[in-house]
Amino acid sequence: EAKSSGRNRFCFFSPRMNQIAQLNAGVESDLRDALHSDQLFLEYQPIVDIASGEYAGLEALLRWQHPVRGRLVPQDFIRVANDSGLIGNIGQWVVNRACAQIAEFAAQGITLPPVAVNVSPKQFQFGNMSAEILEKVAKYNIAPGKLSIEITEELLLDHNQEVHDQLETLQSGGIGISIDDFGTGYSSLQYLRDLPATRLKIDQTFIARIENSSADRAIISTIAHLAHALDMRVVAEGVENEAQFALLRASGCDEVQGYLLGRPLAVTELRDLFGAGKSRPETGVQ
Ligand code: C2E
Ligand code: MG
Ligand code: MG
Ligand code: MG
Repeated sequence: EAKSSGRNRFCFFSPRMNQIAQLNAGVESDLRDALHSDQLFLEYQPIVDIASGEYAGLEALLRWQHPVRGRLVPQDFIRVANDSGLIGNIGQWVVNRACAQIAEFAAQGITLPPVAVNVSPKQFQFGNMSAEILEKVAKYNIAPGKLSIEITEELLLDHNQEVHDQLETLQSGGIGISIDDFGTGYSSLQYLRDLPATRLKIDQTFIARIENSSADRAIISTIAHLAHALDMRVVAEGVENEAQFALLRASGCDEVQGYLLGRPLAVTELRDLFGAGKSRPETGVQ
């Protein structure tokens, strides 16, 4: 019967899949516009050195002020950016904006801690990422130690020589490399050993369970030992309370990041904080 075969034909996409496809297409074209109309911006979350209690860095986090949907976070659009290839342009925008803002603060006599930008594995497929980053750092006359990148274990999965070379180029240029969300992927320890990384960031899912799970405490101190043996600093992310902080310190972590130490800050808040010469957070660490 014509009616049922017609229905079968259009069952290739379920209504739900269709809805998602349309939604994603909308996000993609909106994102294309966003890049050209100043809707993207960065917030900066402090990272604190446990031993000194002082700010050790800032992580730049991407935000999108959508004209209709309001303020969006990466979870709302990074996947579409990755799938559409727009992540290449977005990544360039992020590095440029971070460098521009570091330089702008320096021109006002305000020294920021080093800034880390997140880089998607996909970005390594567009042109020469490392050269672009080094160019930007030179263009804005920023000391290379003032910028670092965060990559995820996913990038390390296929043991790509090209990726490895790009990371070595960055390292030689003085750009720090952090491995983000560590412990959730499947990178081999051999590859980790040979990687020019300076920091290991333990994924926040482990920190969320640290108070109640001795298994998670064991994993965290094992990661800390491993990182130190490989000459890397260990950062715990998603630290929300004093109890977690105390356990992380006891586990050998070097640095902490999370709502306990400070939420992601708008640029004006950054100016208030570092313009006033604040070198440590008021809460959390003594
Ligand atoms: P991430 O790099 O692991 O960043 C940490 C995330 O944890 C951020 O989420 C941050 O706001 C959140 N966070 C910080 N402290 C706490 C805490 O105490 N508790 C909890 N529950 N969460 C906390 P955000 O800003 O939504 O970013 C999510 C992810 O999006 C990032 O995870 C990163 O993978 C990606 N991302 C962010 N900015 C960029 C970017 O510029 N480019 C790319 N490619 N990816 C980005
Ligand atoms: Mg990160
Ligand atoms: Mg992370
Ligand atoms: Mg994370």
